[in-house]
Amino acid sequence: MYIDAHRLYEDDGTPVPFIESPHQSDRFEPRYLVIHYTATLTIRDCVAWFLDAAAKASAHVIVGRNGRIAQMVAFNRRAWHAGRSRWHGVEDLNAHALGIELVNAGALERTPAGAWTDGAGHAVADGQVRIARHKHESVDRGWHEFPPLQIDRALAVARTLHAQYGVEEVLGHDDIAPGRKLDPGPAFPMAPFAFDLLGGTRSVSVAVGDPTGREEHD
Ligand SMILES: [Zn+2]
Repeated sequence: MYIDAHRLYEDDGTPVPFIESPHQSDRFEPRYLVIHYTATLTIRDCVAWFLDAAAKASAHVIVGRNGRIAQMVAFNRRAWHAGRSRWHGVEDLNAHALGIELVNAGALERTPAGAWTDGAGHAVADGQVRIARHKHESVDRGWHEFPPLQIDRALAVARTLHAQYGVEEVLGHDDIAPGRKLDPGPAFPMAPFAFDLLGGTRSVSVAVGDPTGREEHD
């Protein structure tokens, strides 16, 4: 992949679909890359949400479970993906972080019959569920798996962003908004992803919670 005029292209020159979200602003100086999950099952639902006036949310790129990609904010503009956030003394990460969303239902629920569902009650197949413990929680629960193809595509986007803009650290939303956010959660392979992108000198910190609030809008 490559970037021209702050838009993403496939290696063969095909532009990645750019579906511009109105939820963006200027004064953007990227230093970080923040990884999210969409809490949806499809890229379509996430795109629709980032176009919805009620959302007041967006991200630069969404990566689907089948590797499909959409860009929603130009890379020289501030997307609204971090909300209230902090990292090593830096506040308001939207001003400093590119944001990638991966289509993933996130933390799952279980019906009395034992079937897995997302938060809206849509079924999630057993084979797509990982039982794991979030680093900020004390109990195991079910999490939606990320397909390898999706991770590969997200890594390709991340490498392209890093080559163009320079990324100092890869962070989870749960690193910069602990107590408020759980994404991308324990099913996302953060350590190998960051190692692949930045090498061994850039380890991802395990954030110690500074839960300054809850339930703020994204
Ligand atoms: Zn998030």
